[in-house]
Amino acid sequence: MPSLLLRHADVIYTCDDSRRVIRQGYVHVENGRIAAVGAEPAPPLAADEEVSATGCLVTPGLVNVHHHLFQTLTRAVPLATRSTILDWLFAMYPIWAEIDADAYYRASLATNCELLTSGCTTNADFAYLMPEADGEMAAEEIRGAHETGIRFVLVRGGMPAIEADLEQRLRPLMGTHLDRLLDRGEVLFPKLEATLRRFHDTSHGAMLQVAIGPTSVTYRQPEYMRRFADVAAAYGCGMHVHFDPRPDERATMREHGSRPLDFLRETGWLTPRTWFAHSTLLESEEMRAISAAGASIAHCPRCIVRLGKKVARVGHWRAAGINVGLGVDGAASSDMSNLLNELRLALVLHRVGGYQDSEDPAQWLTPEDALWMATRGGAQALGRDDIGELSAGKCADIAVFPLRRLSLAGAVADPLGALLLAGSDPYAACTIVGGRIRVRDGHMVDVDEAAAFDGANAAATRLLTAARHRTGIDFTRQA
Ligand SMILES: [Zn+2]
Repeated sequence: MPSLLLRHADVIYTCDDSRRVIRQGYVHVENGRIAAVGAEPAPPLAADEEVSATGCLVTPGLVNVHHHLFQTLTRAVPLATRSTILDWLFAMYPIWAEIDADAYYRASLATNCELLTSGCTTNADFAYLMPEADGEMAAEEIRGAHETGIRFVLVRGGMPAIEADLEQRLRPLMGTHLDRLLDRGEVLFPKLEATLRRFHDTSHGAMLQVAIGPTSVTYRQPEYMRRFADVAAAYGCGMHVHFDPRPDERATMREHGSRPLDFLRETGWLTPRTWFAHSTLLESEEMRAISAAGASIAHCPRCIVRLGKKVARVGHWRAAGINVGLGVDGAASSDMSNLLNELRLALVLHRVGGYQDSEDPAQWLTPEDALWMATRGGAQALGRDDIGELSAGKCADIAVFPLRRLSLAGAVADPLGALLLAGSDPYAACTIVGGRIRVRDGHMVDVDEAAAFDGANAAATRLLTAARHRTGIDFTRQA
């Protein structure tokens, strides 16, 4: 593999244990790993390629810990643009039920490119919707990711039940096709294990890993949750689930003399291998328990805004000692897959209404906190110690962001603050994964972006058309 020397960076945020920040620095890369990081002048170093980072800020490659790649094919659907979560799902499920292996490939290819151009180098995709009859969906999704060169974690999921009253609302429109969304345990678990055996790589620097988990906590089916935990323990892989107990779910648990937290504990889900998605409605005791277990949270700010959720009190999470990573969430509930923009929103969103919810401004995130969440926080959530920092021996996953932009003019006191608070340019100048340059000047170097775009649009049109024919729903009607 060619060696690289990244030189004359205005500033490097290493995100190493001492949070070293280097002004006028270099990064030397050999065999896909960081060989050295330091201040210029760099010692005489042999490198196949020298990359100028003049006028740029360098960080570890960003880590996305929550996505649903297939949702890229249902972005900005008018019927769902003004909907809260259940009505949004009502509009989405008929389209998602048409998913096939080709659609997975197209969504994966286009979306992983989008992530890479925003400086993201590792993407964890929660693929909870993989209908049973189509075993090759995981392989096609992975093929799309592989072609972009991103480091990939496939969270092979399952959908045991449809939320709240949605089954009654959708059944008359979708008939038996609705069952295509659901996974029955007796079929699902052998498939999960087959996916783990086929793709899960536990080696240092792995480009592909597998984690598992159901889309939501199945309070009525403890055996289902326990089985996920048993499989994860057997394979040493991560576990992921949307954990955001609704008031009605809490009430149901109370009726049975239990609580969501007890349920997680009893089914083996409070572990360091677990990362929960969203968790915007946590109670204080739940925060303490998640922290004590060493579990993590995937924070997805844009989804909160888009679906009108309660603003997550990130300051409270961090005060409780919870490790937090950042996610863009599925593009149907966030519309975009730009992780740099997600950092920008994370930095300010949790301050909204903060006084009412007694979050002290001293708990508000700093730009370095947001970067830490998107690098080390994400790496820890995924159970990895080989990514998320720029120090010798770690994977050479690097993001280079341009500072000489009009939107940053005058922001000279703090380059990271300038990028995250003032910056509006969504692209990285250069993104490197495992020592290979994947993005230059905001564009993929070895993927045909136009073909990826056209392929995703064709797949999205196909799904939308099929869903309309099947259900009679006009998805282009504004809600
Ligand atoms: Zn999600």
